[in-house]
Amino acid sequence: MGIAVNVVCFSIALLPYPGNQQPEHIQAQGEQRRSSFFNIERDIPMSHAAIDSHDSPTDSELLKSQSQPSALALSREQVARYCRQLVLPELGFAGQQKLLRGRVLCVGTGGLGSPLDLYLAAAGIGHIGIVDTDDVDFSNLQRQVIHFTPDVGTRKVKSAAAKLHALNPMVDVLCYDTTLTAKNAMEICAQYDVIVDASDNFATRYLTNDAGVLLGKPVVYASIFRFEGQASVFDAKKGPCYRCLYPEPPAPHEVPGGAELGILGVVPGFLGLVQATEVMKLLLGIGDPLIGRLLTFDALEMRMREMHVHKDPECLVCGHSPSIRTVEDSERFCSRVNSPAKVNEIEPRDAFELYERGQPGLVFLDVRGDPEWNICRIDGAKHIPFAELDLRLAELDPKAETIVYCLTGARSRNVVERLQAMGFSNPKLLKGGLRAWAAGVDPDMWIY
Ligand SMILES: [Zn+2]
Repeated sequence: MGIAVNVVCFSIALLPYPGNQQPEHIQAQGEQRRSSFFNIERDIPMSHAAIDSHDSPTDSELLKSQSQPSALALSREQVARYCRQLVLPELGFAGQQKLLRGRVLCVGTGGLGSPLDLYLAAAGIGHIGIVDTDDVDFSNLQRQVIHFTPDVGTRKVKSAAAKLHALNPMVDVLCYDTTLTAKNAMEICAQYDVIVDASDNFATRYLTNDAGVLLGKPVVYASIFRFEGQASVFDAKKGPCYRCLYPEPPAPHEVPGGAELGILGVVPGFLGLVQATEVMKLLLGIGDPLIGRLLTFDALEMRMREMHVHKDPECLVCGHSPSIRTVEDSERFCSRVNSPAKVNEIEPRDAFELYERGQPGLVFLDVRGDPEWNICRIDGAKHIPFAELDLRLAELDPKAETIVYCLTGARSRNVVERLQAMGFSNPKLLKGGLRAWAAGVDPDMWIY
């Protein structure tokens, strides 16, 4: 059985893109160099890079081939570019050829995907697919270091591909400006040797895992949570998968996002580099991959720990009798198994009308943390941070008309449930939280 913990962890990159758009192929380099690169790929078919290197040419064979035109040789520029790693005996010319032939899919170009993509391109991973459907936002720049200030408002995949092209024009970058869904996941993932989960949500995480298991491909996983993170390599042919560790996703309403909980920018940076390292080890077939091991990282303690994770014979997707035989959008799965409790909600516009006419007994309750309260608030609201609620309940009038809000509605939903359960007569959830309030009735609010 997998270990029984179920830590709510998530990462900051992101994803999405509508169904029928075609991936954009970013042109990489001069035609001459490009054609010789593709000759290499055609001459040496590789279905699963890392991985079987027995038939690869040796370094001495590759060196000999340099004196004559050969698809196996590296170009002079490639030797200059990759010389620091070429001289590593564990890598050498043969290893570099494996990296050049490598096909890696990075799901998410956010906090994890930024260092991941840059280091993979720098190392000469030949084919990098990037999946994301967001625009670059100012709030991304604190940690998503592949995106720069002038990129704000542009598509993340375009921003990332431009940086990768500038860093290493010899690398092919394929952009998927889409959300990974049950409809496209298998088709996209099937084209790659290694899949990297650099996403920021559980739906994508379970989808990526299931696609990896069903296609027999390794998934390099990482997620982050405030000052902490974790990473592993899930390869169901050799060890556990993500579902062995966490059998079921949490319900969407149970998972506050990074915008609400905060993220120290270097944490996804660190974990993204762990992922890049594991990808290179898998492609090269060297070292001891994180298969069957969960690496946890605590930035405040500056401590790493390791937990052994065992394959769960009852796992829904990789166990002895799997019930999952095709990918499914986990959001639907999630809502089936764990629906949120029913709470009374109020639309921002309706709440604003009550606020404007000074409804007697109306209380806005803000349950966000102090730093969030300092950024913006509804004037006149009562502030009791979520963590202090139990101790300060006496400050609330159970008979008042209480409208509870946070940033998005996730934390406040939990509070409304608790107030209802304690007998408060009329607690309501501000639907969509302050973000919806700002969008609907107060566009001048400093939202984050
Ligand atoms: Zn499993």
